[in-house]
Amino acid sequence: MLQERDFYDEVETKKPATLNCEFCHHVDTYEVRWVVRTKKKALQGPVDDSDRVRFARAQSYMTRVDTYLQCKNPRCRKRFTISGLQSVAFI
Ligand SMILES: [Zn+2]
Repeated sequence: MLQERDFYDEVETKKPATLNCEFCHHVDTYEVRWVVRTKKKALQGPVDDSDRVRFARAQSYMTRVDTYLQCKNPRCRKRFTISGLQSVAFI
């Protein structure tokens, strides 16, 4: 049985996002890290019917790596939880 990772090519990327700190409410642009999983064109190696069905349903997506960021406000600098940004996005 194939693993989900066998369906995708995986790369890490950064995307800017405008976020606000939950402590000081400072708004700034942060580079948020994501893992992009792009569906492969075809499966390789021995596959069975269930792998083929799962692969047919698979979609390219990206998943957020960062959960916390450090506030850029020099008077704050606290680690805040990223909110208002989804953790998984289909692409
Ligand atoms: Zn802050």
